[in-house]
Order: sequence, then structure tokens, then C-alpha cells
Amino acid sequence: MKIIKFPILFSEVQERLQQINPVKYTNTRNYVDGSVSYLSPYISRGIISTKDVFQQVLNLGYSVKQSEKFIQELTWRDYWQQIWIAKENEINFDLKNKQLKVSNTAISKSILEANTGIKAIDTAITNFYNNGYLHNHLRMYIASLACNVAQSHWSFPAKWMYYHLLDADWASNALSWQWVAGTNSNKKYIANQDNINKYCHTKQSNTFLDISYDDFDTLKIPKELLETDSCLLKTPMPEKESIKIDKKKSTYIYNFYNLDPLWDQEILPIEYFYLNPHILINIQYHLIV
Ligand SMILES: Cc1cc2nc3c(=O)[nH]c(=O)nc-3n(C[C@H](O)[C@H](O)[C@H](O)COP(=O)(O)OP(=O)(O)OC[C@H]3O[C@@H](n4cnc5c(N)ncnc54)[C@H](O)[C@@H]3O)c2cc1C
Repeated sequence: MKIIKFPILFSEVQERLQQINPVKYTNTRNYVDGSVSYLSPYISRGIISTKDVFQQVLNLGYSVKQSEKFIQELTWRDYWQQIWIAKENEINFDLKNKQLKVSNTAISKSILEANTGIKAIDTAITNFYNNGYLHNHLRMYIASLACNVAQSHWSFPAKWMYYHLLDADWASNALSWQWVAGTNSNKKYIANQDNINKYCHTKQSNTFLDISYDDFDTLKIPKELLETDSCLLKTPMPEKESIKIDKKKSTYIYNFYNLDPLWDQEILPIEYFYLNPHILINIQYHLIV
């Protein structure tokens, strides 16, 4: 599996925008090596907007019809944001239905340790710890494994994924986890080994997921997922004393969701970004004078 890197120069982000191919995207997006855009960290951090991306698709000469699938996905991002605005903290709890078959409020240790025995998932989690990114299908597989096979309530595993994602966006994250767990949708999302093999190009068999979809109804928590852990998800914050404000000068506060490099650029030109979740969270409290 190719490890995706996320460039830190704004010019490189602009180059990535040039690479969007909505036609290839439509045909390949569900495969782990499909032509997805890898723009989510920049969109989520407010470096570029979904509107910028949409405009770029048109500038590249693609019609709305050719780009329909890609535009729909951009729309999901904005839709989840609107749900968050409308529902506020309600999105932190089961939204439409109560999650059924909950055995724990932690996460399987083997998921945390990338040791579930499902090769595609273990490789993806290992890479995730290194680069802060997961393909959409793998996010769905992991969420399904955690909630619908290991019977963990979605809330803690969602926080674990959010903590490690460069594109961490609580609306997309919490509401997608709820969609998989069936608390924000009409049914749970499940995937068996065949499905994983198809989209991840693996050939694994005889795993606890190597079953038919009917068998999921009676599936007991596999031994590989039984042990759970509620690992500490701690974000180091700067000491209060280290923040100094010169009241005579203008002060700009950048938050985790809005690192817009073009914001008031005449006063404050920003040339590069460092995309690391921990550093970004620190930037949230970093006052730039
Ligand atoms: C369990 C789970 C957790 C998720 N958590 C997050 C998260 O914290 N932050 C986040 O940005 N996305 C999240 N997603 C949505 C999606 O997986 C990512 O946005 C996408 O994989 C990012 O890769 P990309 O930029 O190559 O996307 P592309 O497929 O190229 O799509 C382009 C853009 O559209 C938006 N988008 C695409 N698919 C979705 C989707 N299903 N929902 C919402 N927006 C979408 C993103 O902004 C993305 O950058 C989650 C999905 C699941 C199933």
C-alpha cells in the first residue's frame, strides 16, 4: 500500500489541486489505491475551502455532470458541518437510534495495536499512525469492525480516530461513525473479508470476517477483538505563561479549523504549514502578533 504524504508548502497544495481528476475518481474512488484527491487535511484545517475545490474542478475543464460523484462527496463535508451547527452537542450522542449490541465503551486493543489479523486493516492502521490519513473505505471498515463486530460504542473509537487524523473534523468524523454504527442511519454498515479483499487487493481467507452477510447477525465478538482498552488521548497544550500578548499590536488567533493562509495576507503573510495534529492543536493557542 502506497504511503501518502501531505506537502506543507502552500504552492504544493495548489499543485495537488491541479491533480484532481473527477472522471478517474468516479470509477476508482472505492479502491484503496483509487484516484482520490488527498485534499481533506487542507479542507478540514481551513487552508482551502470546498468552494475553492469545486471552482478548481470547473477551471480544469470538467463539467458538473462529469464531476458529479466528486462534488457529491465535497457536499457531504459541508452537509455534516451544517448538521453540527444545527444539532450542536447532540452529535456527541446517538442521534437517531440507540446503538444496539453495545458491550463496551472502549476500543479493541488489537485495533489500537494494528493486530486484528485482517491484513488490509492492520497495514492501514500502521500507516495511519505514520501519516495521519486513512482512505474512506478503510475508515468504514475500521468503524464497522469496532462498532458492529467488536460491539464498542462508537464514541470512544471515533475519538481515537479523530485524535490521529490530519483531517480531523468532528462533524464528518462523529456523524460518519454514527452512520456506520446505525445511530444516524437506518442500518449498520458491515463489510466481510470478500469486500475488503476486493477493494484492498488482498487475498485473505479463513479470518473471522470470512463469512456471509447473513452470518453477521449471530456473530459473537471474535477472540481477536475481545480485549479492550481506553487509551489516553492527551493533547499537550502550551503553558499559559508562555502566551504573551502585546496589547498595542493586532492579534490574530488561528484555530484548528481555520488556518486560512490568505486571511489578511497583506498584514500577515504565511508561507508554509506544518501538518502534524499535535503541532496544529498547539497553533490553536498560538497568538501571532
Ligand atoms: C468513520 C469515518 C470517519 C471520517 N472522519 C473524517 C474526518 O474526521 N474528517 C474528514 O474530513 N473526513 C472524514 N471522513 C470522510 C472521508 O473518509 C474523508 O473525507 C476522505 O477519505 C478524505 O480523503 P480525500 O481528501 O482523498 O477525499 P476525496 O474522496 O478525494 O473527497 C474530496 C473531499 O470531499 C470530502 N469528503 C469526501 N468523502 C467524504 C465523506 N464521506 N464525508 C465527508 N466529507 C467527505 C472531503 O473534504 C474530501 O477531502 C470520515 C469517514 C468515515 C467513514
